[in-house]
Amino acid sequence: MTKTLRRASLCIHSGYEPKNGEPIELPIIQSTTFKYDNSDEMALLFDLKKDGYFYTRLANPTNDAVARKIAALEGGVGAVLTSSGQAANFYAVFNICESGDHIVSSSEIYGGTFNLFGVTMKKLGIECTFISPEASEEEIQAAFRPNTKALFGETISNPGCKVLDIEKFARIAHANGVPLIVDNTFATPINCRPFEWGCDIVTHSTTKYMDGHATQVGGCVVDSGNFDWFAHAEKFPGLCTPDESYHGLTYADAFGKMGYTTKLVAQLMRDLGSIPAPQNSFLLNLGLETLALRMERHCSNAQRVAQFLHDDPHVAWIDYPGLDDDKCHALAEKYLPNGSCGVMAFGLKGDRDTAIRFMDSLKMINIVTHVADLRTCVLHPASHTHRQLSDEQLREAGVASDLIRLSVGIEDVEDIIDDLKQAMGN
Ligand code: PLP
Repeated sequence: MTKTLRRASLCIHSGYEPKNGEPIELPIIQSTTFKYDNSDEMALLFDLKKDGYFYTRLANPTNDAVARKIAALEGGVGAVLTSSGQAANFYAVFNICESGDHIVSSSEIYGGTFNLFGVTMKKLGIECTFISPEASEEEIQAAFRPNTKALFGETISNPGCKVLDIEKFARIAHANGVPLIVDNTFATPINCRPFEWGCDIVTHSTTKYMDGHATQVGGCVVDSGNFDWFAHAEKFPGLCTPDESYHGLTYADAFGKMGYTTKLVAQLMRDLGSIPAPQNSFLLNLGLETLALRMERHCSNAQRVAQFLHDDPHVAWIDYPGLDDDKCHALAEKYLPNGSCGVMAFGLKGDRDTAIRFMDSLKMINIVTHVADLRTCVLHPASHTHRQLSDEQLREAGVASDLIRLSVGIEDVEDIIDDLKQAMGN
């Protein structure tokens, strides 16, 4: 039934379809394990020869239903929930990379991902070259090496609000025989489906708009099923040669379009863990049910707030792709025609203290290390999320030291504007 539904309906009806007499809301199966009457049946599950549940780290009905919903929203063939967005980005890359490999990433990405790629994965022997997403195709091409295994970017960057030219990135990735991985956290599949523009794998921090109520930390990896791993078999031995640690299975062969997803669960979840608690997936599902409605309101509120800040004399600059004169407006019109998100970046005239004084004067708007929530919230990345980065790294990540990240919620927009006005001394 859900195959023909549009996105707002998929938010409500996909993933879990109750049968006659079953609960209308997704049940929480908060159980680590599942009972079988005989050991042969259990053995078939371990051999991946039969579908079924045996241990929640590998699969759980509540988690799977929510993963199916996100896969349906993105238009992917399979999805895996993770315990955080960080785990999702790590697994999306680590599923196809190993020590000695290399990736290319947009430099305009979340500070945590920047650190993951630039510092932590380097310790595992995986190197990353960061490139400006605005660089020419030739410049980005020059970052590729024979051992490059993926290209990575964010649909809308956190915190700079730059829109990724997904088609350009997909073209470059595919010319090099590697998949494009896009973190679609800020746009959500309501406003952009990267697979429709050639992206191969999508990741999410479900902690953000998908949950929307600041109740759970989570992530998701979604596969389009479109990347032809065997066409580049020499680059992806993990998918295209037998896995001796899993009965000699060749994932891309045995599972076809589900090969990448199956490998992620069978290898990475088996060995590293990082699943969400079913209780958290239930909370995430409640958020997903209203995602389309909330995104509409986030975008209309943000458009009004961005225009207000744009016209206010206290404001030195503002980046919001919905504004006509924004650098990314043309890309937003192409990739985000129904709205981008509620997040914007701006700077106040004055010094660093002006930003701090403004934030401390806000009454309704919260200072939190969070973004993309139904409450309007604000953060100064140079003092908070990105404080581990050097000035040079801040510049590379497109984070100005006066940048204030404002995440516009779904309150009455007049109250949001009133609070901003009084905090700026209007
Ligand atoms: N990706 C983006 C775009 C983010 O904004 C964040 C967190 O802010 C993450 C990934 C990491 O997600 P999490 O905090 O759920 O680990």
